[in-house]
Amino acid sequence: MRTLVRTLAAAVLIFSLRMPSSIFGMDLQSSSSADVKTSSLAAGDGQLVGYSPRSSVSEREWEAKFKAIPDPANLREYMRRLSARPHHVGSPYDKDNAEWILARFREWGLDAHIERFDVLFPTPKVRVVEMVAPTKFTAKLEEPAVAVDPTSNQKSEQLPTYNAYSIDGDVTAPLVFVNYGLPEDYEKLDRLGISVKGAIVIAKYYGSWRGVKPKVAAEHGAIGCLIYSEPKDDGYTVDSVFPQGPMRPADGVQRGSVMDFASANPGDPLTPGVGATPGAKRLKREEAKSITKIPVMPISYGDAQPLLAALAGPMAPEEWRGSLPIPYHVGPGPAKVHLKVEFNWDIKPVYDVIAKIPGSVAPDEWVVRGNHHDGWVNGAEDPVSGQVDLLEEARALSLLLKQGWKPRRTIIYAAWDGEEPMLLGSTEWAEAHGEELKQHAAVYINTDANDRGPLTMGGSHSLEQFINGVARDVEDPETKLTVWKRKELSEIAEAKSAEERQELRQRADLRIEAIGSGTDYTAFLDHLGIATLNLEYEGEDEQGIYHSIYDDFYWYTHFSDTDFVYGRAMAQTVGISVMRLADAEVLPFDFVDFADTIDLYKKQLQKLLAQKQDEARERNQELEEGVFKATFDPRRPTVAPAKEEIPPHLNFAPLENALDSLTKSAKHYRDALTARQGALGDEASTGKLAAVNRELILTERKLTSPEGLPRRSWYEHLIYAPGVYSGYGVKTIPGVREGIEQKRWAEADAEIVRVAKVLEDEAATIDAAAKELE
Ligand SMILES: [Zn+2]
Repeated sequence: MRTLVRTLAAAVLIFSLRMPSSIFGMDLQSSSSADVKTSSLAAGDGQLVGYSPRSSVSEREWEAKFKAIPDPANLREYMRRLSARPHHVGSPYDKDNAEWILARFREWGLDAHIERFDVLFPTPKVRVVEMVAPTKFTAKLEEPAVAVDPTSNQKSEQLPTYNAYSIDGDVTAPLVFVNYGLPEDYEKLDRLGISVKGAIVIAKYYGSWRGVKPKVAAEHGAIGCLIYSEPKDDGYTVDSVFPQGPMRPADGVQRGSVMDFASANPGDPLTPGVGATPGAKRLKREEAKSITKIPVMPISYGDAQPLLAALAGPMAPEEWRGSLPIPYHVGPGPAKVHLKVEFNWDIKPVYDVIAKIPGSVAPDEWVVRGNHHDGWVNGAEDPVSGQVDLLEEARALSLLLKQGWKPRRTIIYAAWDGEEPMLLGSTEWAEAHGEELKQHAAVYINTDANDRGPLTMGGSHSLEQFINGVARDVEDPETKLTVWKRKELSEIAEAKSAEERQELRQRADLRIEAIGSGTDYTAFLDHLGIATLNLEYEGEDEQGIYHSIYDDFYWYTHFSDTDFVYGRAMAQTVGISVMRLADAEVLPFDFVDFADTIDLYKKQLQKLLAQKQDEARERNQELEEGVFKATFDPRRPTVAPAKEEIPPHLNFAPLENALDSLTKSAKHYRDALTARQGALGDEASTGKLAAVNRELILTERKLTSPEGLPRRSWYEHLIYAPGVYSGYGVKTIPGVREGIEQKRWAEADAEIVRVAKVLEDEAATIDAAAKELE
């Protein structure tokens, strides 16, 4: 998966399990605090952070050799091979691809193996969506082959359209249109006097992760859920449809997982917290918390149109309406729908391919790099466009090894299986190796799909300065600017205020996005507390083939990075990141940007609370003034909202104090490293550097708590998590933020204290690292 993003103003984005993070209902990381003008050690003088002058020169020489190796022709050939047939979990070609990747790693001389896990993976047995009143209509639930597209006719190997981890069910009920199916949509329905109790809802794709839609529907009493692809979001309103254009045709369907991973855990639903190895203790299916409560099916807009056209009741609010040639009514009914789904609840193997390059000086410090190889169908864009870059990096690194390059730290390359159903391969591997990873893993770097456009940089803010430095050293294929400069200028173009533009022009580093979930970094960051980066070139191409049979080699080579030059840029970007992390004498972490970012989040939380207080006050005042009575239209009746309690003040003082410590320690560390940088190469200091690196590796771990977040203990990171009601979309300082959003005031107050405690510990660890350097 991954997130698909579009600038919401303009259009929609996509989610793979990779979700483009910045669009849908997430918290902005990149707003305005322009007060910090940081100075980057890497900028200007060319000396790399964490390197002595001599080793910096040698590193740059190796990186220059590396950059010359990745070849677009190879990327194209790998993609042709890996996307030639459907390769979902449990399919013959999924295993075949894993073995082919393994053979490549070995051919290049790397020490590689396949690690297998056995996981619950449902596939459909019965799928029925039909309208039984006021007229009869049976949904096709079928994506037709397209003559010019040679892999679209591989019918016997394609998974049918469905949502994985929907419960079995057979329900018949009136239909209600619920917009994107988010909590705020149900508040609007309340105002219209409409309940979904006992109904089947139909929701549009996007606006949140898809699994949030059946979850919220069930919480409101619905008994079934349909999710359809609205042409206004990824169909003909955006551009021509496939095969004339890149967008979703009338019968195109978005498959995808609806597992409630954000409230429980991703990975195999039967083995939460442990690897799904042969001897692992497994839950019964009925005990698995992450399977949906009601049956769910995805449908095309071809199948959705007759159902929506048969709805009566009030008109949907204007912003809910799509671009089908029908009036969008909300219902309920008279359209009555029969939804029946049954699944084969099989245990299937997933095959992770793991390659290891041992470190020469610090083999117990690991840099881990991953991308998944499984797709929903042929999956050329998602995930093969990212997987081929990973392969080319591995080939290039193996060539450098033959030329005498010796990475200081151990490097692990991983091609994950089972990401699409819900991060199965990466989560099970991370859980199976949890203790080792907590000991040894310094950084995890993830990609999923790759397209064309500016570089999206997300991850841990202790790596913000580092990845800005890498982006300054890679050339953008179209503009020939550095990737960093193109990103800066495109952010200036999109900035919404003079304040934002000023910050972009003055701050040394571009802000990176916080990440929640949606792709394979989740277990590493959210569960184990390993500093993480997630990267993608994107933004120039529209697409409506996400998770359909049309995401294939024909589509990618006609409508995306057709000459694979952004694939090469990605291999260069990630390859250099891996090398620079693996070779540095001192891990290139920096905490000044991190402290600045936490301060920004704290201000956002204070603003959020003030806004909630203002809204409640305003609503209560309008009720007293009689605004709702005065605006009541008897022909279009609405229900006045209830009076609301004004949110109480919360005590942010512990967080303010922790931020003071953090800011001080961040500066302390940066000063200590700057002072020491010239002497890092002294052999005598090697033992001391090991101690510094040990502290640095622990800094992300310090942001976790073994008790985890309220009601979801698998999520141990207290700074970043996916939102319970946004799915992939990140919630920063989630305990406090969700406490405020969900009106649990006492919990929000208590979470402030917990977060302040981990930040105080973090500051102490950063200080300890600084003292080791002094
Ligand atoms: Zn993906």
